Amino acid sequence: TEALRCEDVHQTYQTATHEVVALQEVSVSAARGRVTALVGPSGSGKSTLLRILACLERPVRGRVEIDGVDATAMSARGRRGLRRRRLGYVFQNPVDNLLGYLTVDEHLELAARLRGTGRPSGELLATLGLGHRGDSRPSGLSGGEQQRVALAFAAAGDPAALLADEPTAQLDRASAHLVGDAVRRLAALGHAVVVATHDPELVAVADDVVELVDGRIR
Ligand code: ADP
Ligand code: ADP
Repeated sequence: TEALRCEDVHQTYQTATHEVVALQEVSVSAARGRVTALVGPSGSGKSTLLRILACLERPVRGRVEIDGVDATAMSARGRRGLRRRRLGYVFQNPVDNLLGYLTVDEHLELAARLRGTGRPSGELLATLGLGHRGDSRPSGLSGGEQQRVALAFAAAGDPAALLADEPTAQLDRASAHLVGDAVRRLAALGHAVVVATHDPELVAVADDVVELVDGRIR
């Protein structure tokens, strides 16, 4: 089974004056071990699709499956549990992803506890080039390091899929390159990784590229 799948998803938003159609007839899937990049112009629906795949938002129509489980058919409580155990999400801004008072190691312990799995191995940090950062707090890290810790936090406890919305948008080129490496390595560990991005650095590490134009897949 695919780690993530959505079928015939439609999404609309009501504004004060009119209805915005954000997604139409969107079907995508993401497999473990692969990196999928969602690309397309600003306003094409990338973030909306990512939030729907992450069960952070409910589509007006269509079906979302996580590890073969139909999220759309579940209770709100069931869906929250599914999201907590099976999915990890990384926001664009590094400071939105981490807790200032926890060390890097404590972040990973927390993630494993939230997902109900054992303590994560130190290997995850080493794999992401953060082996020496376990005792650091976010304020002692660069933005690029923070995003890699956010990816480790999202990946600890072995969720099926990691989703990241423009994770390199606030980073310099060297840091963005390291985040690209980290994304590849997390896929190699067996996660499905989905990134919404404009960044050629991230598109270059993707196995599958899904292009959205005006809310539809091209
Ligand atoms: P992208 O991530 O590709 O820039 P988005 O998914 O953010 O695109 O937006 C897709 C469309 O939906 C845009 O027209 C955007 O203005 C609209 N949209 C997104 N979120 C909302 C919202 N909460 N309320 C109203 N319109 C929204
Ligand atoms: P609550 O009553 O706790 O807000 P919801 O039913 O709104 O529970 O679900 C929790 C979150 O998951 C909400 O943000 C909702 O938009 C989102 N969500 C609900 N159903 C789906 C779905 N089928 N696919 C994706 N996201 C969903």
